[in-house]
Amino acid sequence: MITSIQRLFALSALSALLVSCGGEREGTGKPSPGAEASSKAGRTGAAAAAPQLTRPRSGLTPVFERAATSPGAAKTVALTFDADMTADQGERATRGERFDNPELISTLRRLKVPSTVFMTGRWAEQYPKQAKAIGTDPLFEIANHSYSHYSFTSRCYGLPTIAERDMRADVERAFDAFRKAGARQVVPYFRFPGGCYNNEALRALAPAKVTAIQWDVVSGDAFATDADAVAEQVLAGVRPGSVVVMHCTRSAAPVTEQAIRTIVPELRERGYRMVKVSDLVRKEEGGSR
Ligand SMILES: [Zn+2]
Repeated sequence: MITSIQRLFALSALSALLVSCGGEREGTGKPSPGAEASSKAGRTGAAAAAPQLTRPRSGLTPVFERAATSPGAAKTVALTFDADMTADQGERATRGERFDNPELISTLRRLKVPSTVFMTGRWAEQYPKQAKAIGTDPLFEIANHSYSHYSFTSRCYGLPTIAERDMRADVERAFDAFRKAGARQVVPYFRFPGGCYNNEALRALAPAKVTAIQWDVVSGDAFATDADAVAEQVLAGVRPGSVVVMHCTRSAAPVTEQAIRTIVPELRERGYRMVKVSDLVRKEEGGSR
């Protein structure tokens, strides 16, 4: 009895983690619960032509969702991978759960796919060699997915919530963890756990001088068992300038590597060039950075 309850609890906690990175929004077209307060989060890629970098109001962190494109411009897309591990999951890692996905990284290298990995500081501490290898390979860049993977709003898929006064320190602690691991290709971009944010969070993070990166294409790779379905969903959603959210966490996104082997050749066939988030943001800003 106790065992099944524990098992159920463990399963819900795992769901909360991965769903928090975009899984639940699959096909709903509705904002995620915690993202309601934000003006941008939760859209699932309606054919918006307008620039997607929200110009920051005074004192707020800017938010980027998708690059604007002009007719005839090169077709680019950013594949992003959230390397999720929550601050209190160390014990599960010790028991053998794998929050990493070295096969995925190998495949991205083999297919030569420039990619952005949104890593939690806790992940970098658990897998320092991998964090260093990713963060010293010019094919990749590491962006910040918080240290703790706690929520930056009061309600976000059941994630524990981080206090407003601790938000900036949590983000900076992740940058410290990347540095400590020896990662060098670290960029000033931040993805809110679960994509959940509001103006208070944007204000709290302003001194950290990061740009928040959302997404317009949900891959649905969290807990997926059918790689073809994931590939199909991505291919149906991508348009020029898209940001696709996927995961680099084997235990809870087990078919991502397989899906990538379908997605990448097909996108290239369709004339897309895969780029890092920093390339999309730079383009959006007119090459000013
Ligand atoms: Zn995440």
